Amino acid sequence: MADDGVDLNELAAFPEEEEETKPTQKLAVAKKADTHTTIHTSGFREFLLKPELLRAISECGFEHPSEVQHACIPQAVMGTDVICQAKSGMGKTAVFTLAVLQRLDPSEKKVMALILCHTRELAYQIKHEFDRFSKYLSAIKSEVFYGGAPIAQHRQRLAQDPPHIVIGTPGRINQLAREKNLNLGGVKYFILDECDKMLETLDMRKDVQEIFKQTPHEKQVMMFSATLAEDIKPVCKRFMHNPLEIYIAAEKITLHGLVQYYVQLKEEQKNRKLVDLLDALQFNQVIIFVKSVPRADVLNKLLQECKFPSAVHHGRLSQDDRIATYKKFKEFGIRILVSTNVFGRGVDFERVNVVINYDMAEDIDTYLHRVGRAGRFGTKGLAISFISTDEDSQVLNSVQQKFVVNIPQLPDEIDAATYMNA
Ligand code: AMP
Repeated sequence: MADDGVDLNELAAFPEEEEETKPTQKLAVAKKADTHTTIHTSGFREFLLKPELLRAISECGFEHPSEVQHACIPQAVMGTDVICQAKSGMGKTAVFTLAVLQRLDPSEKKVMALILCHTRELAYQIKHEFDRFSKYLSAIKSEVFYGGAPIAQHRQRLAQDPPHIVIGTPGRINQLAREKNLNLGGVKYFILDECDKMLETLDMRKDVQEIFKQTPHEKQVMMFSATLAEDIKPVCKRFMHNPLEIYIAAEKITLHGLVQYYVQLKEEQKNRKLVDLLDALQFNQVIIFVKSVPRADVLNKLLQECKFPSAVHHGRLSQDDRIATYKKFKEFGIRILVSTNVFGRGVDFERVNVVINYDMAEDIDTYLHRVGRAGRFGTKGLAISFISTDEDSQVLNSVQQKFVVNIPQLPDEIDAATYMNA
């Protein structure tokens, strides 16, 4: 596929510009640690959830609560504040979605639950989870609001028919609240997903604080993240009252079910290798991570020229394009996605079983978030990292040390059964 006149070295010339700031935080250390990968044998029934919820849960194919669900849901449905760190892919979203749906009384027509997250895709995904679980609770209405979409439409929607549950990104929610389009005076459930990401970034933290101040004093606060550094925990706890703290030990954030390899190569060999891999590997869906927007665009073009069914996703696409790509990928309309770190975190694609770090992640956290796109919720997956610089090798070594794993060099052949679900 690669030899039809396409210059496979084209990408090497691009500047190493990064789209997102590097996460500087380290992984959290265990406090109340659990083996989060264990799937509990007790069913969701033991949580005494509403029959409408149990029915929806069963239709989603969830048979047993995950460790994090087991640890958090019973207390979350009792109204306890929760701060929870667990690897993404282990079902954190269902914890707060189910807790809110269990407790919310839709007879009051006002915004009662507010969920903030750092990207539009994640907001959209959370909305999708609410839709799935509220299938038999048709009186409950949820809506999503994020920057980039026309604010006039948001104002209109809030004025005409305010939802019970608002999901959104901090900037837009703050604007809507500040301008009195969104009344937060009835909020009973205040949730931050990927909370460290929002509280680390100063302008997002400011938005979150301003939003928080507009909510009533008496409310339940829940915060979730895949990584939670020691210095951010006190910041989180300032928003909470005597929270249940669930931290999964850093050492236990292993990537079960995920087969990991590296390829040592020169920058100019990356395209050839990538094309060979895409030809050789069996995959449902694959995400290829690169470090900058221009590189993402060029690599996508190159793959398309090589007749691979690829698409691109990054933060500089228009709002509509971002959501359209996200939807199409989620619905399996795209098999190969070239992406910057915007998709590295929180976003869940059930069918992705291969992640390729075309450009190695810049640090351990980013590596974890990226490769966590494959092998989610106990499914198998394959992660291959291209190593072309000393910095790349350092990150690879740190990942191996931190997670006590051996990431070997990619062999000539890999048995597909090791990374494909039966
Ligand atoms: P999350 O960590 O919330 O992004 O969830 C990751 C994926 O696991 C999503 O596709 C969920 O629908 C799925 N999931 C969450 N909890 C369960 C469960 N108890 N059983 C099966 N799948 C689950």
